[in-house]
Amino acid sequence: MAIHKITYSEEFKRANLHNYGCNFNCNWCLYKLEGRSKPEKFLKLDEIKKVLCELDIERAHFVGGEITTYPQLSKLTDFTKNELGVYTKIGHSNGFKLPPESIDAISVSIKSFSEDFYQRFTGQSNKPVLENFRTIYERGVDVDASSVYIPGLVEADEISSIAEFIAKLDPEITYHITGYIPVPGVSWRLPTYDEILKGKSAAEEYLENVNLSWFPSPDEYVKMIQKNPEYQKITVA
Ligand code: SF4
Repeated sequence: MAIHKITYSEEFKRANLHNYGCNFNCNWCLYKLEGRSKPEKFLKLDEIKKVLCELDIERAHFVGGEITTYPQLSKLTDFTKNELGVYTKIGHSNGFKLPPESIDAISVSIKSFSEDFYQRFTGQSNKPVLENFRTIYERGVDVDASSVYIPGLVEADEISSIAEFIAKLDPEITYHITGYIPVPGVSWRLPTYDEILKGKSAAEEYLENVNLSWFPSPDEYVKMIQKNPEYQKITVA
């Protein structure tokens, strides 16, 4: 549960701070696709600050594993926002722990509206997730939500319940639906494009800004990562 790598995009003047570890245990976790193993070393807070001071950055993105499990996160986001004066964003979070106040934006994954689902498939309760989502929104943070469409597990009816919950806070909150990408050792399949479109339509009954991403195969997903300029970066620590 610590930062193990910093990457940099000169084009976007952005540092990405990569955390290892998560407090959930989702079967479908995409990190399984990468075969991620425990890093050999972790970076100390002073080392991270030194690297950030040497970079030409306008944004700092905190990514996972689950970044809120990093014990020094609030010290680091306070430093990046208040001392370096850059935009701070948590690229994705499961929402189980509240992020620090010094975060400008966050994307929260809401996996289901069902407590039973959370207990079975993540090993945690969904109550803190839903409550924290509300708190983050009420703080005025630029928050968006996402869910993974998994045939036979998270389908249009589930997406509809999540969208209804979000819309009660604000129907303009952006909601992103991602098609499940099969990971090794898990039996669920890719959704078809028509299936995920049904999920999008269900969400649009409640929300104004719904988008989706869908790949016809894991290989196409990997190719997108390799080509998309948003993902091009160099490792600086
Ligand atoms: S919350 Fe995200 S990072 Fe953590 S296990 Fe689930 S999918 Fe993976």
